[in-house]
Amino acid sequence: MNALETLLAAQPLTLGAAMELIIRQAEWQDEIIAHATALRQRHYGNKVYIRGLIEISSYCRKDCRYCGLRRSNDRASRYRLSRSDIYQQAKQGYELGIRTFVLQGGEDSYFSDERLEDIISTLKATYPEAAITLSLGERSAVSLKRLRLAGADRYLLRHETADESHYETLHPKPMTLRTRLDCLQTLKALGYQTGAGMMVGSPGQSVTTLAKDLLLLQSLSPEMVGIGPYIHAEDTPFGDAPDGDVDLTLYLLSLVRILLPRALIPATTALSTLDETARIRSLLSSANVLMPNLTPPMHRADYAIYADKKATNLESIEGLADLKDQLARHGLQLDMSRGDFKGSSNV
Ligand code: SAH
Ligand code: SF4
Repeated sequence: MNALETLLAAQPLTLGAAMELIIRQAEWQDEIIAHATALRQRHYGNKVYIRGLIEISSYCRKDCRYCGLRRSNDRASRYRLSRSDIYQQAKQGYELGIRTFVLQGGEDSYFSDERLEDIISTLKATYPEAAITLSLGERSAVSLKRLRLAGADRYLLRHETADESHYETLHPKPMTLRTRLDCLQTLKALGYQTGAGMMVGSPGQSVTTLAKDLLLLQSLSPEMVGIGPYIHAEDTPFGDAPDGDVDLTLYLLSLVRILLPRALIPATTALSTLDETARIRSLLSSANVLMPNLTPPMHRADYAIYADKKATNLESIEGLADLKDQLARHGLQLDMSRGDFKGSSNV
């Protein structure tokens, strides 16, 4: 069996097969994308789930070399939302029908366990039927447990790369792939719906590292997978590195849809930032989630993870009605429910 046949027969991929799938993109992409489309349709129909993304802090103690919010970037504008800012944004989102709030931010020690417990439990008490997703970087097992007990349902923590030396290229010491993977295992063990994923085209990435990413996703089987292109960020060590490839990103999203047919997969803002048509293209093939921006408008430009981050109407909560129309024109239906992972395992 070649790698395409192995994948379509739902057999586990070897490293060699995963590499072959990447190398033969030009030859196989139409078939892979068609297969991913059929699987998305089978499991989720035409539904696109909506999450309200609240970027709670642009302070970060980490120094990831690709990210505009890294600690060493003196030129980054820093802000953090107060509790009442967060409640205000959640109220606005709730009134528009949002039933998942994603609290994302740099690793900001201001957001201690106590503060987050308070925020999460207040949001849960006010909106019991809404889901809370956190995306706040690495935290200790004790902390993750406290936040889970306070009511957090899901956690997004991209693994970024499954190759140790590539991980070290992207992250200075003391960050390690081991810590990242331990954190992901802890999240799963605590019963979070867990998201992993990587950037496409990050400096130092290769066919081998991407193949390892696919194998990691295959074995970890996360409920959510975030994959977007790398986009250069000014005032970072990789500020001159080329941006990732949109078509390769779309192809990888389709591979992941086939590997993990029930996964919740967002069409990322990074993808739309590089190509306006890519959001719809990804939703028509593999993706089934959108995360419009619900950060207070005055702070949106300061959450500058990468250059020229797209902030159009369709990327923002204010554009929800337009987004609904755009999706409908393509036969897709915006679904306002919580949009939980369906099933007990990802097969
Ligand atoms: N601090 C948290 C969440 C915010 S960063 C964390 O790191 O998990 C969220 C994601 O943005 C990261 O996981 C990374 O994959 C992505 N990101 C960071 N810099 C980027 C860049 N230059 N281009 C594209 N994506 C980037
Ligand atoms: Fe901080 Fe996340 Fe950026 Fe790394 S990717 S510097 S942890 S905000």
